[in-house]
Amino acid sequence: MMEQNKEGRESSLLDVFARADLEIVSGEGVWLTDSKGRRFLDFYGGHAVALLGNAHPRLLSALAEQARTLFFQSNAVDLAVRERAAQRLIAFGPEGLHKAFFVNSGAEANENALRIAMLANKRPRVVALSGAFHGRTAAVAALTAGSEKWYGFPQKPMDVSVVPIDDVEALAKAMGPDVAALILEPVQGVAGARAVSTDFIHAARDLTTKHGAALIFDEVQCGVGRTGYPFAAQAYGVTPDILTTAKGLAGGFPVGAVMVSNSYAAKLGKGQLGTTFGGGPLACALVEAIIDTIEKEDLLSRVRRLSARLAKECIVGPVYATQGMGYLLGLRTHAPASAVLAAMRDRGILAGSSGDPNVVRLLPPLVLQDEHVDMLVDCLKEISL
Ligand code: PLP
Repeated sequence: MMEQNKEGRESSLLDVFARADLEIVSGEGVWLTDSKGRRFLDFYGGHAVALLGNAHPRLLSALAEQARTLFFQSNAVDLAVRERAAQRLIAFGPEGLHKAFFVNSGAEANENALRIAMLANKRPRVVALSGAFHGRTAAVAALTAGSEKWYGFPQKPMDVSVVPIDDVEALAKAMGPDVAALILEPVQGVAGARAVSTDFIHAARDLTTKHGAALIFDEVQCGVGRTGYPFAAQAYGVTPDILTTAKGLAGGFPVGAVMVSNSYAAKLGKGQLGTTFGGGPLACALVEAIIDTIEKEDLLSRVRRLSARLAKECIVGPVYATQGMGYLLGLRTHAPASAVLAAMRDRGILAGSSGDPNVVRLLPPLVLQDEHVDMLVDCLKEISL
């Protein structure tokens, strides 16, 4: 059937997204309003992007002020705001990562992370985990679970080995002198909010060090405070060689970042990486404002406290277990997640699906309050499927 917009005209948008029958027109804090005037409590944040909800005063003023001062200049010149954003991000990240490179999306961050690893150690193979989601561009889609259904290109740009999540023995077997990098999401997002075991993360660090391969943490979804720590790396107490992040990093403005240890940074020369829009002043002003807000409003301790409530109290109604970390939380449901999500939406709460048909994904903004947790728990109690 031809997609139509609400005036009944044929849509001019390419029809590639599965969409809810919902037109959002405005948002404030954790609340969204649709075109019919209904209000929704947002436990999804537009795929984990609206990190501080909508219309956060600090983000609005940082954006407006930067827009008035300087709208755009490229990486061909120095920008104080770019340098400040990099300094703040590196200070916010795990110790042992020293340099930042700004891009525009998660896929682009991961694509560059792989390139850095391969430029540095000139090896042909990459190891990834089952269930991984690393993006949709050519190299990272080759590492994304299920991409054979939509990959499209005739061949992958590198050799790929996939290891079952948490299988240390399989990882040890997959590693070798031809491996450029092991890439993993410390908390898998699309797979259904699955935290990788601490043992596996530590084994990943040891084995990559032993084989001279780069350890890449993809924190595109789980980074920037979502786990209750600046990055999941800090929650696990493990520093990768390269860490990527995006989504919530500017709270809704497109930005991604690759953070690199000095030893990898030293192997890169001028011209080996590049971007036109990456590191633009608007994005960088927002990165600075996001980190500033998380720190000044002490949001991480609130994430840790409220996520403990969510993990425990959401086991009601159709939910029999919870999984994940912080505000990347999966609700395991007996009924199909799609039915639970529809029932939640009918009651004014938005959450997300995942690659697991029985997992509802919660990705609320860091500005969530106790009363919103109460509302979600009451909503779930009402649902019988
Ligand atoms: N990596 C992870 C862990 C993700 O969850 C995503 C997006 O969902 C990506 C990479 C790709 O990010 P983007 O859609 O910004 O390219």
